[in-house]
Amino acid sequence: IKGNGRNGFAFFDPSMAAEADERHRLEVDFRAGLARGEFELYYQPVVEAGTRRRVGMEALVRWNHPDQGLIAPDRFIAMAEDTGLVGTLGEWILQTACAEAATWPDDVKIAVNISPVQFRKTNLLDVIMCALVDSGLPPERLEIEITERVLLEWEAEHVSILHQLKNLGVAVALDDFGTGYSSLSYLTAFPFDKLKIDRCFTRDLLARDGCGAIVCAIVNLGRTLDMVTVAEGVETEAQQRILEAAGVGQMQGYLFGRPTPADGLAIGGPATAAA
Ligand code: C2E
Ligand code: CA
Ligand code: CA
Ligand code: CA
Repeated sequence: IKGNGRNGFAFFDPSMAAEADERHRLEVDFRAGLARGEFELYYQPVVEAGTRRRVGMEALVRWNHPDQGLIAPDRFIAMAEDTGLVGTLGEWILQTACAEAATWPDDVKIAVNISPVQFRKTNLLDVIMCALVDSGLPPERLEIEITERVLLEWEAEHVSILHQLKNLGVAVALDDFGTGYSSLSYLTAFPFDKLKIDRCFTRDLLARDGCGAIVCAIVNLGRTLDMVTVAEGVETEAQQRILEAAGVGQMQGYLFGRPTPADGLAIGGPATAAA
């Protein structure tokens, strides 16, 4: 290859090679980490607006890397999707989250994030049913959270999976609502139980004019369509007051609790061992 101008140099850029190398190493570590049980679920409370009673927990995965320490999901979910390992990881997440939640009081639900790839490429329905049967968790206590990316392809088959889950009693939430380019059209394709209003709206509630109005509009939309609205990323009392006044149904954020490992939670029975 002829080094021609900037493009030529970019091709041989050593920092790019280092980056690819680093990514490859993480991928190798990821496979090993799955086998060695280095993943752990953290749980963050979801509270009811007004009463601030805890009504659920969202499971958030972490990777206890032997050298790098705790790694956040943003750094490995995409890789897990690319390599197809998200199926294995996702199955472990569902099994673990349901087993953990089965030790909690009956009125606390568990929300589990489902990756779009996991949704499209794996036998999600079977995996969910196995997790429910193995744990003994009633389906009514499980919620799955999907983002718009899941339905991007708009296939009848995907909508059908959601309907089957709903028939089973599992609730379906649309995560990060308001950030996609065609959010509203998704609402006509499937009757979600819940809309999770993206954190950016909560964050800008006091700073940007219009955010309050958008939240109010989403809340009203939710009411009309019979969907519970949840505000994510609530960090301050001021945000909480505005959100409650706007009529959101539930809230989640550091104000009510950070994601915490199972053994640090103040609910439930004896903590179940992670993988
Ligand atoms: P998400 O589903 O929107 O999860 C909420 C994220 O916001 C979490 O980050 C949570 O720790 C963070 N968060 C919660 N409250 C606050 C707050 O008050 N302030 C701020 N600044 N942040 C808050 P996390 O755990 O790093 O997860 C990031 C994303 O990774 C998640 O976004 C989700 O899309 C994905 N993810 C996490 N766990 C899983 C999982 O088990 N499976 C799959 N497929 N994806 C996951
Ligand atoms: Ca989520
Ligand atoms: Ca979200
Ligand atoms: Ca997100």
